[in-house]
Amino acid sequence: MAIILDGKALAKKVRKRIKSEISELGIIPGLAVVLVGEDSASAVYVRNKGRACKRSGIFSETIRLPENAEEKELLQIIEKLNQNPKFHGILVQLPLPKHIDETAVIDAISPKKDVDGFHPHNIGLLQQGRPQFIPCTPKGIVELLKEHNIETAGKHAVVLGRSQIVGIPAAILFSAKSIGNSTVTICHSATKNIREIAKTADILIAAIGRAEFVTAEFVKNGAVVVDVGINRIEKNDESKLVGDVKFEEVSKIASAITPVPGGVGPMTIAMLLENTLISAKSNL
Ligand code: NAP
Repeated sequence: MAIILDGKALAKKVRKRIKSEISELGIIPGLAVVLVGEDSASAVYVRNKGRACKRSGIFSETIRLPENAEEKELLQIIEKLNQNPKFHGILVQLPLPKHIDETAVIDAISPKKDVDGFHPHNIGLLQQGRPQFIPCTPKGIVELLKEHNIETAGKHAVVLGRSQIVGIPAAILFSAKSIGNSTVTICHSATKNIREIAKTADILIAAIGRAEFVTAEFVKNGAVVVDVGINRIEKNDESKLVGDVKFEEVSKIASAITPVPGGVGPMTIAMLLENTLISAKSNL
């Protein structure tokens, strides 16, 4: 049976450390969260982020815009937040309504306040091995493996998914000499023999958004399995959250595995707090 990589417990530890650092900082770090529209999952994520800020001594404010808000209005709000010294971090909750160009919005956030690490400037710095803000989900994965003394150097990491917010930055982090130092393979929807490739992984990171797609057949005995997926499914008249990995069967052959919920999700929020603290410190 695999070791459970408990993200909830580590996130709590990180929040405690952040709170204690803030108490000696002399300023209160501030995070602005912008939520456009009524997406229920996004609303939950934003609420959780607000709560986590409060618990760790970070000031946060959520700016809510209606579903039909214009892109221009959103860009104007971001510009104001860029100038507002109260906020060290700005996060625009994704996905945005279809009529808004996500790239234009990400580009508009000051790279100095881009605590999600999605701005091309920050992705460029990460790729060059001199990161300022590392995207929260991959950063949380690395921290979780580190906490459990899981060696990544020289290992074969297979990343399922190539999104700009998870798959690609995870691949960059795992391949970076000073971070993961792994050999990395990226798979996506056009990959042939994905099951066979996944089975060669020492570390398998699933970030595709397909409920329980990764079965035991995808996993080598003793592999470390990181499940990023958050999928809501209906089972026996009940709605529940599952990952991209079929936990019951994969946990029997993996050496370590992240649960859903309680694995990567809480770590993502913890790293957002950490990035906000890093930003506040760089303004001292
Ligand atoms: P995304 O933007 O939809 O990207 C999905 C990626 O998976 C794409 O690269 C896509 O390939 C690939 N893909 C989709 N179906 C596939 C299949 N059948 N076989 C192989 N590759 C496939 O998703 P995302 O934003 O990265 O999120 C992925 C999952 O993680 C979602 O469930 C999301 O809710 C969750 N998530 C969790 C956290 C957390 O904190 N735990 C954070 C962010 C996201 P193409 O590029 O070819 O289309």
